[in-house]
Amino acid sequence: MGNSDIPDTGGLQGIEIKTPLDPDWGVYSSTYNRRVPVIPRIVVLPATTEHVSQAVRWAAAYGFKVQARSGGHSYASHSSGGMDGSVVIDLRRLQNIELGQDGIVRVGGGVRLGNLDRAIWQDGRAIAHGTCPTVGIGGHFTHGGFGVTSRAWGLSMDQILRLDVVMADGQIVQASEMVNNDLFMAMRGAADSFGIAVNFYIRTQEAPKAITKWSVDLPQAMKTVDNAVETFQYIQDFVNDASKIDRNLNVVIFLGHDRFTIEGTYLGGALQFHDMVLMPLLQGCPAKDGHSASYNPVGWMMLLQQLADGQDLNVSPNHMERLIFFAKSVAVSNPGLSRDELKTYFEYLLSEGQSTSIGYFVGVQLYGGIDSQITANTMRDAYGHRDAMWMFQHYGFVNEGTFPEEGIRFIDNLNKALGSKHGASNNYADPSMERDEAHKLYYGAKLEILTKLKGALDPQDVFSHPQSIQKE
Ligand SMILES: Cc1cc2nc3c(=O)[nH]c(=O)nc-3n(C[C@H](O)[C@H](O)[C@H](O)COP(=O)(O)OP(=O)(O)OC[C@H]3O[C@@H](n4cnc5c(N)ncnc54)[C@H](O)[C@@H]3O)c2cc1C
Repeated sequence: MGNSDIPDTGGLQGIEIKTPLDPDWGVYSSTYNRRVPVIPRIVVLPATTEHVSQAVRWAAAYGFKVQARSGGHSYASHSSGGMDGSVVIDLRRLQNIELGQDGIVRVGGGVRLGNLDRAIWQDGRAIAHGTCPTVGIGGHFTHGGFGVTSRAWGLSMDQILRLDVVMADGQIVQASEMVNNDLFMAMRGAADSFGIAVNFYIRTQEAPKAITKWSVDLPQAMKTVDNAVETFQYIQDFVNDASKIDRNLNVVIFLGHDRFTIEGTYLGGALQFHDMVLMPLLQGCPAKDGHSASYNPVGWMMLLQQLADGQDLNVSPNHMERLIFFAKSVAVSNPGLSRDELKTYFEYLLSEGQSTSIGYFVGVQLYGGIDSQITANTMRDAYGHRDAMWMFQHYGFVNEGTFPEEGIRFIDNLNKALGSKHGASNNYADPSMERDEAHKLYYGAKLEILTKLKGALDPQDVFSHPQSIQKE
């Protein structure tokens, strides 16, 4: 059978499917990142857990490779299979959200973050996760998930108390620290290689009452390489100083050849933020001449709305954007970057950033620093970057046409300019890496146990894409 042939779908009776013969095939087969198009063999749209199980059994019996799709935002089109000819199990019909008296919410595998936020907000509850409301719980929560409350509450992944999982042989099982704990470990960091999470049981928090959203723009910092190095080094020292910050401070640095902006949120009032954080931060800042700072109190829902950058928090299960981009990430371990690494990096950014033909941004998320509840977490999981200080994202885009080779080189070299000893995030999956390199950078020391678990939990390599874990 060729890659595009339609297999006998008799074993999928009672389940909605989409094949290349359907007029709306394009809606179900196209990828979020148009730079990485792949064509599935068939897209299955289960409406129940049993449907997911039936679909996995069917695909495994044919020897097809399977990937789940939740919000469909994979940078590497992994949720379309990552290569032509895979079976996509699209979870958009699994939209249940039920909040219990105990503050634990049960969430279907196809729910988007914005809808989850709106549903639990009715009871004044909140969850740690990233900024984009259209991202799905399925990919985001199973591969990390960093957001404005992560230094205070942990990654999204750390909020998962239990999962209902469909395994490679179609079995439906629970996974938690108490039951199937190897599977639970693998599903938190590497779910794409181990199973399909059909229901998540997630810890919620009382939505913070006092929040300050803040931003400091430092135009002088990018005037020279020395300024940039000194400023970054200063911030790095600041967030590693126990007398200066605690877990309530969230920091993201946005960089460009002409931009150095530090921004974030603070879980506390605006006056407190001004006195405890902003003044001390600016006091010793090397490139503060001409700076502009803003800080405003916001409510939880307003914060989510502002972070969503104009997108509605009420997301249709059929919502899909299509962008053209190439992104790479660098996970830098504690205590952070050396002066030499920073110098090489800023030399490249300042000289080459001006001349590249693509649009780009650099986002640097603070994972570590004093009192971070990301690095403090000691749960057994498959996440490769518990010791991260910074997560750099180098994101290049064009609005139309073909992404140019020059743009690939620019993003690649910018990434390399930070040095070779760092890791990378599989939530910003980079399809330009070969499997071995991706494994080393995504999973680090956890790769060994994951390859063993793959042999035990998915020996036929059903859950597979070009960068998935393989058995040893
Ligand atoms: C606009 C935008 C903003 C972002 N902001 C942030 C941010 O602030 N912080 C952050 O940490 N990340 C952020 N990300 C990255 C995001 O977390 C990842 O792209 C995430 O994997 C997307 O999840 P998804 O369900 O939408 O993707 P999908 O493409 O559906 O899935 C991604 C991967 O997870 C697998 N998967 C999906 N559902 C399941 C499931 N139920 N069980 C098992 N495997 C599953 C898929 O097979 C695929 O391999 C952002 C991405 C975008 C596009």
